Amino acid sequence: MTRFSELPTLGDQVGRPQPKDKARVVDRDAQRKADSQREVKFRNHVWRDSKYVCAFCGRRVKRTIELTADAGHVDHIKPRSTSPALKFDPKNGRVLCANCHQKRHGSGR
Ligand SMILES: [Zn+2]
Repeated sequence: MTRFSELPTLGDQVGRPQPKDKARVVDRDAQRKADSQREVKFRNHVWRDSKYVCAFCGRRVKRTIELTADAGHVDHIKPRSTSPALKFDPKNGRVLCANCHQKRHGSGR
């Protein structure tokens, strides 16, 4: 989800001819695709660095989308909401076990 404050501003584009609606949709799709590729790279990097161990408690974790107790979660050290520029920075990521991640966020995210 994009927060309003993260939306690009028109800046110096004000007054310039705007692209047609269709071009804008293609741009947005391309952006989304690029973002999801960066997300995959980010997660792969964080997982590789983690050695499949929780950064808090040292418990061994698995890379799975199943909701099991030994599932690891990729955590942003600086949250995406306050540091969107670090969203895909591998140095801002770590793997936590489900338990530590839940403690950190107060939910299953
Ligand atoms: Zn843990």
